[in-house]
Amino acid sequence: MQNAGLAALGLNWRYLAFEVEPADLRAALEGAKAMGFVGLNLTVPHKLAALEMMDVLDESARAWGAVNTVRLEGREAQGAWRPLGECGERPREVRAQGFNTDAEAMARAVREDLGLALAGASILLLGAGGAGRTAALKLASEKAAELFLVNRTRGKAEAVAGEIQERYPEVKVGIGYPPGPVDLVLNATSLGMQAGEPSPLDEQQFSLGRAAAVYDLVYRPAETELLRSARAAGCRAANGLGMLLYQGVKALELWTGREAPVAVMRQALERNVSGG
Ligand code: NAP
Repeated sequence: MQNAGLAALGLNWRYLAFEVEPADLRAALEGAKAMGFVGLNLTVPHKLAALEMMDVLDESARAWGAVNTVRLEGREAQGAWRPLGECGERPREVRAQGFNTDAEAMARAVREDLGLALAGASILLLGAGGAGRTAALKLASEKAAELFLVNRTRGKAEAVAGEIQERYPEVKVGIGYPPGPVDLVLNATSLGMQAGEPSPLDEQQFSLGRAAAVYDLVYRPAETELLRSARAAGCRAANGLGMLLYQGVKALELWTGREAPVAVMRQALERNVSGG
């Protein structure tokens, strides 16, 4: 997706994947700075740890408490910081700014792929890991009316509920399955990626017939058991490809300062992830 976007923008840059052990994250970030990287993305398990390794945090990273996009910036002679990708000569001073593009991407994908307005919505959220927590806070900030949080480890859902009550007291938040219908079920657990895994939703406790729409953050396989059941129950349904696309689109725009070629990136993503 990113390499297709870079090619379409005519940039002689490359997007590469590196596996980094948690203990090596700081050294890897310093290395990226030293080598003149323009930016990078971070994924599990680095998004939280990176918060305190940034030189400066954008409001998005502060609000959602996680960094998935880093932009390296150079100091110009006049003292202003500019994205390294826009600096002509190699600046002497380089800093790392941390952003979060996941939360906005989730909201955009849910709105666009499911045609759902988040304000006023009643939502069942499955999962309270990194993605589940960010999704819950973002949904609350978008003025969802009511959130029902379900997670295997109940204490984590309770912690997220507490955070929402503190930051968004106008949002009703509860632990456990909803007693009535909801506008959206959102799966933010990792269940569904492997064949034969149990569904993240306990249909004894909540029937999909009571949900208008289902969004699954999982995008591989393209159709999880949850999405199959959702469609069979007549729900609007979408997988997490849109979220993956939009977090990448925003990241590319942060690094390049240019509008990202969304259609080209979507096509590359579909080809590579879903074989479409
Ligand atoms: P994480 O922090 O490791 O959290 C995993 C979540 O799944 C936790 O809620 C965990 O429950 C739950 N879980 C794992 N195994 C389970 C099981 N056997 N039974 C019940 N619950 C189980 O991971 P994450 O970063 O939040 O990611 C979660 C999912 O979202 C992954 O599939 C990831 O690929 C996807 N994701 C997609 C996008 C996108 O762009 N579409 C972006 C971010 C993440 P416990 O708390 O009880 O362990």
